[in-house]
Amino acid sequence: MSAARRLDAKVLVIGSGPGGAMTAHVLAQGGHDVLVVEEGEHVPVGATEPYSLEDMDRKWRNGGLTPAFGPVKVTYVEGKCVGGASEINAALYHPPVPSVLDQWAKDYGIADFGGSVLARHIEAVEKEASVSHFPGSPGIASERLAAGAASLGWKSVPVQRFWKYDGTNPLGRRQSMTETYLPRATASGARIESGLKVKKLLFKGRRAVGAVATDRDGRRVEIRCERVVVCGGAVQTALILRRSGHTRGIGDTLSMNPMIRVAAEFDERINEPEVGVPVQQIEAFKPSMTLGCSNGTLAHLALWLVGAPGNREEMLAEWWRLGVFYAKVMAKARGTVRNLPGFDEAFVYFKLDKADLELLGLAAERLATVLFASGARAIVSPVPGQGYLRSKADIPALRAGVTAGKAQVTAIHLHSTVPMGSEQRGCPADAYGKLRGLENVWVNDASLLPDTPGINPQGTILAIARRNAEKMLG
Ligand SMILES: Cc1cc2nc3c(=O)[nH]c(=O)nc-3n(C[C@H](O)[C@H](O)[C@H](O)COP(=O)(O)OP(=O)(O)OC[C@H]3O[C@@H](n4cnc5c(N)ncnc54)[C@H](O)[C@@H]3O)c2cc1C
Repeated sequence: MSAARRLDAKVLVIGSGPGGAMTAHVLAQGGHDVLVVEEGEHVPVGATEPYSLEDMDRKWRNGGLTPAFGPVKVTYVEGKCVGGASEINAALYHPPVPSVLDQWAKDYGIADFGGSVLARHIEAVEKEASVSHFPGSPGIASERLAAGAASLGWKSVPVQRFWKYDGTNPLGRRQSMTETYLPRATASGARIESGLKVKKLLFKGRRAVGAVATDRDGRRVEIRCERVVVCGGAVQTALILRRSGHTRGIGDTLSMNPMIRVAAEFDERINEPEVGVPVQQIEAFKPSMTLGCSNGTLAHLALWLVGAPGNREEMLAEWWRLGVFYAKVMAKARGTVRNLPGFDEAFVYFKLDKADLELLGLAAERLATVLFASGARAIVSPVPGQGYLRSKADIPALRAGVTAGKAQVTAIHLHSTVPMGSEQRGCPADAYGKLRGLENVWVNDASLLPDTPGINPQGTILAIARRNAEKMLG
């Protein structure tokens, strides 16, 4: 039997999404010997069509479909590739909301935190990740949604993206982690090992001394290190820590933004998949509720036509008249992440409560209202058996279906499984992400956000990770 492969580093960063990439960049730039271990593979930007089978197989955990258990089934989505979910997401950027950060500082007792503390990190992220507006018109779907919202008196805006326009390509280029912080980290000496899944951390007393991982062929790999920063994303970070025997306060307070998505049919062209996700969002009901546009590739459209009666092929033949739209809310309920003996995957339980479902029902009603106001002639209902909504008269049935928990609910924004804050408030991580009860383990990803920020969270995650990593430099 051959000996297990062995890797050594001063700092082990587990996961290469926004949290891990930023951590690796700051620590490597500060002169630390950093090893990033990533379970997924490296798939360059543009190598796969978004939402195609190949894309979902190579970049999404479980092919993109992981159910959270509970009375209302919620399907949540995680990235699993070098760069994490930044490689598969819509790349929409929303600046962290200063009043929300200030409120978190107060509610969770987070020292040295808040809008003014994070301001310089936010500024740096916007510059380093080329946050920018789509040049010129934001596209047909955005314009239609904006016109529909305006006719109802609802404010809407084109949001910025992590996207670079340097004149070489009029459509610009996504600025995910493989285009920004990961190359910067490797330029400063960090190493990235893809295709390695960390199973658990190894401890000597209260000190982590390394981790055990498996490679793509299931072979054991041992990693020795002096410090560990866990950045596997909200679900996986909690799973890794719990599997390693560190369970206190971990995975008990998962927060998410449940959403429903619908396909809508228009008389004329609405869909331009080549420009990426249409950027218009309705501001009027933020942060508790966001309405906007989703990816329009054929593969994604097909997903949301499942509930459409009749000939889907005929509909898809005229795909340019179809768009996908979403309504997303801030759920008040909290879920749990658990490791089950003998199972490799996390067991996630999330119980959307009555108030959350009512808010989601209202959001669905508003989405349908603005789509009809934008010129939609039919909407495919996400409530099984409802078929098409053809006019405003059908909207109450949609709302009732969502409220009853019958609609297909998904979640792409997950946080808060290892909230940072004070011991008195029961937070398992301190104000900078260091785990209580351990000497040398930090968390630095979406898990730390003590609550859902309501907005697209990647900008908030990056800014907080930058602040914390600077603190780790000492
Ligand atoms: C479909 C989708 C669309 C989204 N759209 C937007 C958007 O437009 N704007 C926005 O701001 N946010 C968006 N988000 C949310 C945003 O992408 C996430 O909040 C963010 O990526 C979370 O960063 P993270 O570092 O916490 O974790 P992740 O991005 O999840 O990265 C964690 C990484 O760790 C790796 N990992 C996990 N476990 C292990 C292990 N045991 N060993 C080794 N590696 C491991 C994973 O494979 C993964 O690559 C979207 C998310 C999704 C899924």
